[in-house]
Amino acid sequence: MLYERNTKRMNGLRRAAVCLALALVAVLPAAAGGRIHERTISVVPCPETLIRRPGRCLLSERTSLLLSDRSLEPVAGYFTEKIARSSGIDLKERREAGNTLALRLDTQRGIPEEGYELTVAPDGIELVASTGAGIFYGMQTLMQLLPAGIESPTPVPGMELSIPCVEIRDAPRMAYRGVMLDACRHFSTVEEIEKLLDVMAMYKLNKFHWHLTDDQLWTVEIRKYPRLTKLGGVRTETDGTIHRGFYTQRDIRRIVAYAAARQIDVIPEIEMPGHAMAAITAYPELSCRGGSYRVRNLWGVEQDVYCAGRERTFRFIEEVLSEIVELFPYEYVHVGGDECPKERWKECPLCQARMKQEGLKTEFELQSYFIRRVEKILQAKGRKLIGWDEILEGGLSPTATVMSWRGEEGGIAAANHGNQVIMTPIGYMYMNMYQGAMESDRLAYGWNIPLSQVYGYDPYPAQILPEKRHLIWGVQANMWTEYAYGPEDVEYQLFPRTLALAELAWSLPANKDFGRFTRSLENQHVRLDLHGINYHIPMPEGVACSDVRFLDSVTLRLTNTRDYPMVYTLDGSAPTASSEVLNGPLTLDEECVVRVATLLPTGRLSPERRFTVSRTQLAPSADVETEPGIVRTLACGDFRRLGDLGAAQWGAPEVLPDFAFPFEGEQAGGAAIFTGYIDIPESGVYVFGTDADRLEIDSEEVVNNDGKLAMHQLGRGTRALEKGRHAFRMTFLNYPDGGRPRAWDRLGFVYKLQSDKEFVWAAPESMSH
Ligand SMILES: [Zn+2]
Repeated sequence: MLYERNTKRMNGLRRAAVCLALALVAVLPAAAGGRIHERTISVVPCPETLIRRPGRCLLSERTSLLLSDRSLEPVAGYFTEKIARSSGIDLKERREAGNTLALRLDTQRGIPEEGYELTVAPDGIELVASTGAGIFYGMQTLMQLLPAGIESPTPVPGMELSIPCVEIRDAPRMAYRGVMLDACRHFSTVEEIEKLLDVMAMYKLNKFHWHLTDDQLWTVEIRKYPRLTKLGGVRTETDGTIHRGFYTQRDIRRIVAYAAARQIDVIPEIEMPGHAMAAITAYPELSCRGGSYRVRNLWGVEQDVYCAGRERTFRFIEEVLSEIVELFPYEYVHVGGDECPKERWKECPLCQARMKQEGLKTEFELQSYFIRRVEKILQAKGRKLIGWDEILEGGLSPTATVMSWRGEEGGIAAANHGNQVIMTPIGYMYMNMYQGAMESDRLAYGWNIPLSQVYGYDPYPAQILPEKRHLIWGVQANMWTEYAYGPEDVEYQLFPRTLALAELAWSLPANKDFGRFTRSLENQHVRLDLHGINYHIPMPEGVACSDVRFLDSVTLRLTNTRDYPMVYTLDGSAPTASSEVLNGPLTLDEECVVRVATLLPTGRLSPERRFTVSRTQLAPSADVETEPGIVRTLACGDFRRLGDLGAAQWGAPEVLPDFAFPFEGEQAGGAAIFTGYIDIPESGVYVFGTDADRLEIDSEEVVNNDGKLAMHQLGRGTRALEKGRHAFRMTFLNYPDGGRPRAWDRLGFVYKLQSDKEFVWAAPESMSH
């Protein structure tokens, strides 16, 4: 519905949209200040139409604040406090002459629910909307027309509250504009969440999906079931450290109220029937097998889930949800529904009896039964159900809302089936993925989702029937926290990609322009700085390893994902904004240390990268006759560090065609040493990488991951090798580290010429013994 309405509005306003494009690139007069980030208007998300008018309006102690309706007082108060905090100007209703800031509710004007019309003229500002939410968003736009210093938590000396004259008409493209935060893998405090909500509100995001329960932690106090947080709210990591955290009901109420003041609805997620290990640890009688459990300290998926055969399970869920709906006033509750292994249900007499009794043919239908039954519980409490796209399996209730994460297929099927859909596909909306090259970004999950990919996402796949498109309720960015250990990591992953999400969700496709958006970030970065947000700054990338070696000379080709200038030093000093700018490839023929960072237009630097550049010689190849295959030697036992191998009892060497490790299970332990020769195709400088604990080439250590969380072959080292065979020795300890079983990583090592882009895996045909 919303989409159609906006399309009609857009057609009527096409000419104005052209003006918008012009206005956004227009350079403002000097009154806007000489600083680069304040030379242009940069409202994010981009409004529907924005027309620049001559002149400026100045907010001052003489400005009179006028409200058409007393119901606007909380919204007005939110912004007058912000203005007072940073500028010292206390806006209120005044009688003396001066300009005005008028906030007006008008339900007759046909302004969409969250839309607004904002007119800034020299003699005053008028903001009209049909709802308080519309006034709130109009005021957020006004904040972005003010100097960035308006976001400062403390007074900014000499800041003039000067606003360019504009006419803006605006309304969101999509009604659901969300961010999900996982509180279970790593816990976020109330204050950290409030900080996130502040920034979400600036960018007109309006749904906070709070992932509160999982295998790894139960984080919401339930009075009827105190063990949920007492036992389920604490986890002993594989290295023995304790991770704990939960929200009291008072904390929850505080967050919900804080979000409401920012027009944000909070959607709790209580996971079921899978991802329930923390709950089962607290109450083992909810599982199929009973017995004793512990909160999962590995990432991934636990096999033990709620028993779908026991009435006890549904009574528990009903009682938990009774408290949840008391805490969360919003009409939607997310019940997870994803990644539920069916193994326990297949073996459980109670689950099998339930299937027989209900005429369910498969365990997938039993999952569907489970979710439908929970939906009835919610409906009885006046609430609606959201679930991950697995709730489609085994039959979908006609009233459930589907969050499509494994791609868009679930969303397409659900919408065509007539269900409401939120698009959160893993290839675009997963903020736990890298946003720059793995070698230079902080450790993250899986693959790369750059800012441009989030920005360019189209949440309306062509396979959705035209008459079902209105069922796409919106989009959401998901922040899973397996590899985000604290707020600075969460912020790094979320920003600035969340601004791209905001524009994707709010702005009309015709107004989207990635170049204009990234230029807008120059101003937005300053605002994020004032909120203390640790946003990602594109890192120098393109050189895979900090250990750079050369025979005669080497050329470093460094780039960054947004083409910002980079600055560097060769004298060992830290780069600063005034260091030499890197212009193109850097060719070096002397030993040195290169320290390089990306420079934002605001003068801020990215974290630096440091390359040790040293002269080397080709290591001669081995003149040996070899046989196909490599040699593996195994040891049983619990080895956490290379130093533990002193006590290992090694078995007899075996010849294998390729790397393999025989111990099944995520915590099976054991160690292996692999030896052999790798056939190097041409003489040159090679970079090696592995997730194993140590890699030696020609008896020299090239990679040492001892005690590190090794992923993505980021343990890297460099050696110059003559064409031909070179001996390797790779040591692998099979222990879970940082929540990650080593069994998840591909066993072996990668290599490439230093000047090549892509690594290749050491393959059976290039190895021998
Ligand atoms: Zn069962």
